[in-house]
Amino acid sequence: MLKNHLQELQQHDTPLYVYDLDLLRRTLRKAQAESEKYGYQVHYALKANANAPVLAEVKAHNFGADCVSGNEVRRAIENGFSPDHVVFAGVGKSDAEINYALDMDIFCFNCESSHELAVLHELAAAKGKTARIALRINPNVNANTHKYITTGLEENKFGINAWELPDVLAQLKELDSLQLTGIHFHIGSQITDLSSFRNLCTRVNEFQDWFQQHNVELEHINVGGGLGVDYYHPDQQPIPDFEAYFALFHQFLEVRPGQQVHFELGRSLVAQCGTLLSRVLYIKHGKTTSFAILDAGMTELIRPALYQSYHKIENLSSELPEEKYDVVGPICESSDCFGKAVLLPETNRGDLIAIRTAGAYGEVMTSQYNLRDKAQVVYLNK
Ligand SMILES: *Cc1c(COP(=O)(O)O)cnc(C)c1O
Repeated sequence: MLKNHLQELQQHDTPLYVYDLDLLRRTLRKAQAESEKYGYQVHYALKANANAPVLAEVKAHNFGADCVSGNEVRRAIENGFSPDHVVFAGVGKSDAEINYALDMDIFCFNCESSHELAVLHELAAAKGKTARIALRINPNVNANTHKYITTGLEENKFGINAWELPDVLAQLKELDSLQLTGIHFHIGSQITDLSSFRNLCTRVNEFQDWFQQHNVELEHINVGGGLGVDYYHPDQQPIPDFEAYFALFHQFLEVRPGQQVHFELGRSLVAQCGTLLSRVLYIKHGKTTSFAILDAGMTELIRPALYQSYHKIENLSSELPEEKYDVVGPICESSDCFGKAVLLPETNRGDLIAIRTAGAYGEVMTSQYNLRDKAQVVYLNK
């Protein structure tokens, strides 16, 4: 795909983020069609990628917005998402962030601790408002993914633990500026083994029974996001298997009459449409290793350094016989490495290197470490 746009791309400075809006639209259409089969509502997790042209496509496909900061709530609303399709999660919401979201009358605060409930109640009461809330419950389900992106185990900082729920229900009886409307779960990210979601469904069903026994009616069940993508085969598998994903919840989640089911997908919607494009600055031959030194580094894409994550690397400029390279960035950190012993056609200064599947948790995690400039951005198939 990128090779078809090579002439255009060569005009640009690097590092460059390239987004294929045609693939984004096809991905959104598929997710929308598969979720609508069961009447499910999907909120897009802005933290994966919050660029305006991306948000415009997401919104055009009827997704809501899942936000984890006040500025994300603002970004969503400024880009046309209706506040009643905005949810706000996060373990550490500041007073200013809560006040802003209260002023906007968002659909729901996903609350992560009993202390947060007390503060939210106070801030809502001061405005004479009632805040709609969901309890983010830690279901103690293992997502079987990298430990830094596992969020649903009791050892993680996220959510309210099951054993706290009786106290929380008692507390909520006193907090009359809060209206409990749902329960929320999010067990982690880049989950490729669907059995983790099946385990989640089992736990959610148990929690539903518990709330029913305590005469609490829940309008919505939010099962979060986390569906993974295929970083190894971005061309063979550009669109995740949304059909199997939503069908699994339909099969295993017990929904009460009138209840809405919400999802919060981020990565699976936007990862494959993005590529980080870079040029080779230097080739350096070590004793046993050759290094291809790029003009992009961990400042543009931190996932390999942070999670040891794999991204497919391609040389778009060369068709020479293959050799092995450690593909590294220019930053003064040894973890600034995109891949070790990567087979690439013989690579030379000036070659264009594509680092694939960078649309999610790529550009949004950019830093200016080493006083680096921000990467340029281009959108294909506008
Ligand atoms: C990050 C996050 C998501 C999205 O996760 P993906 O793996 O990108 O789908 C959804 N919900 C919450 C609460 C999150 O923090």
